[in-house]
Amino acid sequence: KVRVRFAPSPTGGLHLGGVRTALFNYLFAKKHNGKFILRIEDTDQTRFVEGAEEYIASCLEWCGLIPDESPTHEGNFGPYRQSERKASYKQYADQLIADGYAYYAFDTPEELDAKRKQIPNFTYGLATRGEMRNSLTLPEDEVAALLASNTPHVVRIKMPADEMVSFTDLIRGHVSFETNLVDDKVLLKADGMPTYHLAVVVDDKAMEISHVLRGEEWLPSAPIHILLWRYLGWGDEMPQWVHLPLILKPDGNGKLSKRDGDRLGFPVYAQNWTDPKTGDLTKGFKELGFMPEAFVNLLGMLGWNDGTDQEIFSLANLIEKFSIERISKAGAKFDFEKAKWYNHEWIKNTAAQDLLPFVKDAFAAQGTALNDDIYLGKVIDLIKDRCTLLTDFVAQSIYFFIAPGQYDLDAVKPKWSNEKASFFEAYASEVKDGLTGPELEERFKTLAAAHNFKPGELMLPFRIMLVGGKFGPGVFDIAVAIGAEETIKRIHKAIA
Ligand code: GLU
Repeated sequence: KVRVRFAPSPTGGLHLGGVRTALFNYLFAKKHNGKFILRIEDTDQTRFVEGAEEYIASCLEWCGLIPDESPTHEGNFGPYRQSERKASYKQYADQLIADGYAYYAFDTPEELDAKRKQIPNFTYGLATRGEMRNSLTLPEDEVAALLASNTPHVVRIKMPADEMVSFTDLIRGHVSFETNLVDDKVLLKADGMPTYHLAVVVDDKAMEISHVLRGEEWLPSAPIHILLWRYLGWGDEMPQWVHLPLILKPDGNGKLSKRDGDRLGFPVYAQNWTDPKTGDLTKGFKELGFMPEAFVNLLGMLGWNDGTDQEIFSLANLIEKFSIERISKAGAKFDFEKAKWYNHEWIKNTAAQDLLPFVKDAFAAQGTALNDDIYLGKVIDLIKDRCTLLTDFVAQSIYFFIAPGQYDLDAVKPKWSNEKASFFEAYASEVKDGLTGPELEERFKTLAAAHNFKPGELMLPFRIMLVGGKFGPGVFDIAVAIGAEETIKRIHKAIA
């Protein structure tokens, strides 16, 4: 039975790498008729950020990655927030201590700081344990006294000496870590909260997680988790490990970080995120004008392909084709130009009807309410090929709704003449509703000849009259769309 979890910490905006992790979990679950679970890992109270959980849920919803079980839609394995599962963790920490796999450590933050200053790259582990105040080094009665007097302490895992922790990662194959190089991580903090390491293992067990798909940055934590599974006596039920390749900066030089967005001029978050403390806004793909289908598609291709050249996949196609075997080991470079290409493809190939809500939103965001869906649908069909972002629709189509107030006069002025004006005067009386684009064009050409012009000399001025600038689809299609009355009005206004 496949049960997978996306387990973000509610510490801020959701980076596109996080959404990619959610997506791969979702695809794997759906592919195997399993369950996709959202678990909020909020045991680190110091990093907790108000609103982050709701934001994460809303990003998943925008992408169409609806969890089968989550804090707001509980299944039989709740609660789905780790802070609400607090009671269960301590008993496992106690069990680990009783069995000799973990120990109390009484070092104060000051003592730890002093050690860090004294020893470069200090880690609490095999080599340094003996120098610290903990239940492995202190006499038993002293430990008992410290505990009895409620001396603040943490519980640490006791990393074994000279062992290799080996396991199979479904992407990386055989992986091993030397225990001598892994430090004695804290399992239970002084406030009684578990750390990520303890909570993740206890919850993956309790929630019957079958596969752990997470970012490669968690690979170094895997040996700790695997030892905990064994030490807690659950080794045989361990989930399968799947560490997803990193998402790299565009130049391939290191992991794409949250900070890269501002620096490189593209979003790294799924949706806009406003930090509740500083009020700082970090921009997201959604508000920039990405279709969720395109965003999901491009994330799906970051580190995965179906073995063919196919690049355009709907969520349903991805579910159908997804397999862990086709996930690459190598990091995937994030290319924003390519991301826009996906969006452009999706816009081009989506029916006007389905683009309507997005386009209305884009206009609404600029303060323009559009109500005539039939007209808007026609406009969308005329211009969607020209739009890379949904927000482009506004600039690309505003003249369909509002006559240009300004003209790109430089484009026509030098060659403008009274003869041209009289051509347009005459043409205005030929424009009628009911004529098609080609019919309007035919009349234009015939009349131009009668006025001794080549049609090419008049086409640009006509476009400037209707659009205001040198852009847009076929000018006669525009005339048909805005209608005869409006076309005539715009001609008259321009030549007045
Ligand atoms: N809470 C971890 C995170 O924020 C989850 C890591 C895991 O999936 O084990 O990414």
